[in-house]
Amino acid sequence: MNKLYLLVCCFCYAFHNVVGSNRIPKIGIVGGGIGGTSCAYFLKELFEGKCNITLFERDIVGGRLQVHNMGGQYYETGGSVIHPQNKHMLNFLKILGLRMKKPQGGKFGIYDGDKFVFQESDWYFITIADFFWRYGLSVFELRKDVKSMLEDFSNIYKLQEQNYAFTTVNGLLEYMSPTFKNMTQETLLSYLQKKGYSKRLLDEFVQSVMMVNYGQTNNISAFAGFVSLAGADPNLWSVEGGNKLIPIELLAKSKSKFIHGDVLEIELKSDGSYDLKYVDESSKTTLTEHYDIIILAAPLIKGKENIKFIKFQKDFQQYEKTYHQTVTTLVKGKLNPVAFKSPFVPEEILTFKTDLLFNSVGKVSPVSDDDLEETGDVYKIFSRELLSDKDIENLFENYDVYRDIDWLAYPQYNPPEKLAPFFLYPGLYYINAIEMAASAMEMSSIGSKNVALLAFNLWNNFVDKVDYHKRSYKDEL
Ligand SMILES: Cc1cc2nc3c(=O)[nH]c(=O)nc-3n(C[C@H](O)[C@H](O)[C@H](O)COP(=O)(O)OP(=O)(O)OC[C@H]3O[C@@H](n4cnc5c(N)ncnc54)[C@H](O)[C@@H]3O)c2cc1C
Repeated sequence: MNKLYLLVCCFCYAFHNVVGSNRIPKIGIVGGGIGGTSCAYFLKELFEGKCNITLFERDIVGGRLQVHNMGGQYYETGGSVIHPQNKHMLNFLKILGLRMKKPQGGKFGIYDGDKFVFQESDWYFITIADFFWRYGLSVFELRKDVKSMLEDFSNIYKLQEQNYAFTTVNGLLEYMSPTFKNMTQETLLSYLQKKGYSKRLLDEFVQSVMMVNYGQTNNISAFAGFVSLAGADPNLWSVEGGNKLIPIELLAKSKSKFIHGDVLEIELKSDGSYDLKYVDESSKTTLTEHYDIIILAAPLIKGKENIKFIKFQKDFQQYEKTYHQTVTTLVKGKLNPVAFKSPFVPEEILTFKTDLLFNSVGKVSPVSDDDLEETGDVYKIFSRELLSDKDIENLFENYDVYRDIDWLAYPQYNPPEKLAPFFLYPGLYYINAIEMAASAMEMSSIGSKNVALLAFNLWNNFVDKVDYHKRSYKDEL
């Protein structure tokens, strides 16, 4: 931070707090995904209802959590699986009275474009033996490394329960583990190579996991890579009825005002408060609202029309990040063994090859267990580009229908990562800064709880609860 910026911050910050603590804050949240809606919920809890929140969403609530209809049944097309140790997501499920759904696991195979280099067998022990034969016993080590990372990761929950918040993602990561910040600076490949993992394990298995989870290779950061490896757990779950029920219900529970609007501008006023200009999507009129606190719960994407920040002493463009295109295609049909040059095609096809039509193909079940009347197999394909009719015809022996959804799915990870802060300006906070470390529903939820705590602590002048990592907190916990 330069000196002038610090001076302006101190002035605005002091003003914010003097004005702040005596009245109910007016808070604007931009974005109705899991990040924005959970932040509305956390803020209402922290302020014990004594805050006025308006949430703006230009499209539909849920953001990257969406379901789509396929022949009368609904399937997850965005964020679909949740790790059993994701405490915020588990907690949302509980407080909202929703039910957990276990995805129906099928057999998986790793495909190299010509053949399956590994395929799960009907017999568990044969599968294990085949896996170790191909990839060696270091698979155990990898599982241990992921487990240990998850243990460190969970340090944050206890601190958040005690209302501590961080102004930067680096601070939060460092609190979880002193190694996490460095893991955002190095590729997964070099990190695992240094630990002595075999080339084949990295080139085939690990890269296949990166391809299915992030559509990227082992050159993503080691931190994002480990979050992705945790997604290879056999006990993943989703929400019965669709994951988007969580953001929808959190928003309702927060009793926030909802505006279907596209936020265009945020202007800093001389008293440190903000004007937020938006297009109301129902009336198509441009309106302005005034806020004490604004929370950005949507990524700043390089090359896209982003919110304009007016009269700030700082350029927020530096925090824009390139997002990776991922197309989800749902196909109701039967996979073609000829296309995979194999008499038997597993239900879950992973690949480490970057030049195939797809990043992964997997059989999926509807979001609701009540919908299990047989209507034919549905597959979900992740690819970099939209697939043509001809592509689908090549992959499937026969198919009824297909539909595709083109996402700007996750950041393009390219370590060393420069991580944006949560604290952009006094009273202006950015949840999706955390996505530059790794993108997942739980990451957005951790970021959202942190930002809610940051906004709450700074509004109330509880500065000892901010950036506590600079003190000897560990002894006190
Ligand atoms: C295909 C795919 C598969 C995935 N799989 C998984 C998975 O299995 N497990 C997992 O944990 N995660 C997964 N993810 C990632 C996960 O879905 C995201 O990390 C998470 O949903 C991000 O939530 P968010 O609230 O931070 O952002 P978003 O969901 O993107 O929400 C931001 C919202 O802000 C709105 N918005 C943006 N700009 C404006 C504006 N100017 N005015 C008003 N509104 C605005 C957008 O319309 C959007 O609704 C997947 C993502 C995709 C796309």
